[in-house]
Amino acid sequence: MNNNLYSQSGPWQLLTASMGQLKKYKYEVAVISTSATEAHNQHLPEGQDVLHTSYVANEVARIAFEQTQSVIALPIIPFGVDCNLMAFPLTVHISQDTLNLVLLDIIKSLMSHGIRKIVILNGHGGNDFGPFVRQTQCDLDVHLFVCHWWKVAMDCYDQIFDRPDDHAGQMETSVGLELFPDLIELDTAGDGIARKYRFEALEKGWAKTSRDFGKVNPNCACGDPNGATAEKGRQYLDIAVGRIAEFLIQLANEPIDADFPHEK
Ligand SMILES: [Zn+2]
Repeated sequence: MNNNLYSQSGPWQLLTASMGQLKKYKYEVAVISTSATEAHNQHLPEGQDVLHTSYVANEVARIAFEQTQSVIALPIIPFGVDCNLMAFPLTVHISQDTLNLVLLDIIKSLMSHGIRKIVILNGHGGNDFGPFVRQTQCDLDVHLFVCHWWKVAMDCYDQIFDRPDDHAGQMETSVGLELFPDLIELDTAGDGIARKYRFEALEKGWAKTSRDFGKVNPNCACGDPNGATAEKGRQYLDIAVGRIAEFLIQLANEPIDADFPHEK
């Protein structure tokens, strides 16, 4: 397995950098990645979100660091909001409030080291940082940005994939096949067909609720993994990584002035 938690280590990765390396650079931008440890159909590892999001975080930090010498990725937070997946074995849930408090302490730590541009790179749909970012930017002299990495290339989705994916379907399986094929048990995959709602408002999507995945199907999946290939995963990852890395480079090069992040 390509261990993407620390492959290609360097001064862009706090998990593996030495103090001697860190002291050589003035870091402008930090990437905090968030995820979850939870069921993904029968065939993907529980650490799916941890593994793919770690890969993206480390890759975008590496590419941006090579251009700027001022971007660093922190170790990923491996647990997320998962109270609606407790029907499945060994799901670990931490509340959004807890997650926010952990993030707040990390952000304050980074600020004390002079970093005021921070990207929250999220890899789990159940985590929601919008209100936290709004409040924290009012309370502290810091600029926060949230990026749900799997949404970054959605405009290219239909050129790569032929089935939609909400959870553990063709896209997530393709990404897994590209990044950690040894952990994928494709022959055990369920169909991922989600039970419909009884209300049109929920089916149409103009009223929302939170799904209890235990009621969706027995596989903890929303999306058909059939047709997944490593090639499709690589195509999607390359677009997403390229775009996020470019954003980090722009952030690192842009000084914080009175109008930041708006145009002057
Ligand atoms: Zn996932």
